[in-house]
Amino acid sequence: MKKEVNNKNNLMDKIISLCKRRGFVFAGSEIYGGLANSWDYGPLGVELKNNIKQLWWKQFVQMRDDVVGIDAALIMNPKVWESSGHISTFSDPLIECKKCKKRFRADQIDLKNCPECKGELGESRQFNLMLKTFLGPIEDKDSIVYFRPETAQAMFVDFKNVLETSRKKLPFGIAQIGKAFRNEITPGNFIFRTREFEQMEIEYFIKEENWQEVFKHWQKEMQSWMIDVLGLKQGSIHELDVPSSELAHYSKKTIDFEYDFPFGKKELYGLAYRTDFDLRNHFKDEVPYKEEGVEPFYPHVIEPTFGVDRSVLAVLCGAYQEEDERIVLKLKPQLAPYKVAVFPLLKNKPELVAKAKEVYDNLKKDFMVAFDDRGNIGKRYYSQDEIGTPYCVTVDFDTLENNEVTVRDRDTTQQEKIKVSELNNYIKEKIYGN
Ligand SMILES: [Zn+2]
Repeated sequence: MKKEVNNKNNLMDKIISLCKRRGFVFAGSEIYGGLANSWDYGPLGVELKNNIKQLWWKQFVQMRDDVVGIDAALIMNPKVWESSGHISTFSDPLIECKKCKKRFRADQIDLKNCPECKGELGESRQFNLMLKTFLGPIEDKDSIVYFRPETAQAMFVDFKNVLETSRKKLPFGIAQIGKAFRNEITPGNFIFRTREFEQMEIEYFIKEENWQEVFKHWQKEMQSWMIDVLGLKQGSIHELDVPSSELAHYSKKTIDFEYDFPFGKKELYGLAYRTDFDLRNHFKDEVPYKEEGVEPFYPHVIEPTFGVDRSVLAVLCGAYQEEDERIVLKLKPQLAPYKVAVFPLLKNKPELVAKAKEVYDNLKKDFMVAFDDRGNIGKRYYSQDEIGTPYCVTVDFDTLENNEVTVRDRDTTQQEKIKVSELNNYIKEKIYGN
């Protein structure tokens, strides 16, 4: 029986607490009091996050003939950001308090005085969201560079190099997974909005006349990724057709995929038709694409963008369940940090422990495996349920006689006897079989 998780803020607190308690996500630089909503992924969090990234790369790069990957530098020539429009337009309107110097988003504040200190507020002005630093030994204006505010521009800047080395023809895409940085005024909601974050992005190059058809293709691909791969519930995903007055400067059509997070319906992913805006801006002197029989032209672009940290958060929120006796993360087995856990029935029986170690070592050849010999079996089950481990294997005295172990399923809690010699294949079939 499910206990209703009725208080949604409470749910978020529980998820944050679970993340910390079990090593998914910690506050960054915690021993120094943290740092402005920065977060560190712990031993289990990094596994979950890597599983998401690897599945994405496999599905959208390795299994397709029409997408190739890159991994570009985080800091690019600042001219990239002039051409892309980020230096002139990537900004939020801000108001600074004259007294305490705190800044507020002008569109989120409708007061005459500072909400913090009641001091007088200054004029609203634009504040660029790019994170700035100096490259090299001299700190002057010629050495100013920016941490990239998005991964996308590298795919445009590298377009010709990729085209020439991969010999792709339209339509084709360039994919990248990597960090991006935005000097957000108000980060928040745990790992939802942070100044340092990770994206999985594809720039898919097309002929202009095909944009609607390709847009629909990627809309379906994104839906299928969220539901079939991440296991998010259909009813908790909403598509928002962004009104033209609110579109980014480069976009002719954008769909935001929103998810019902415990703190509200918020943007998870985006799909945008960027026209030929970017290639035109970066390749001013030379049209970058040629095909036999037609004049060189600028390909158009459809861009599916997936936030990695938001994926992790949505997956955690969707998987978290409280049942009578236990908290269980009902993660898709492919996403779970540990695929299987091995327990010797009793810690103080060396022959059981030795056999369990043998089973454990053998499983490790194929999976991430946990080993636990503390407390009673029931507690060990609950401990694995809480981190989403789909299968638990117990080695008992029967195992020593007949080489059979007990495999317990996380979701149904049903148990089954399986031959040790068949165990790896059994787990493999369960996790990757369908
Ligand atoms: Zn103030």
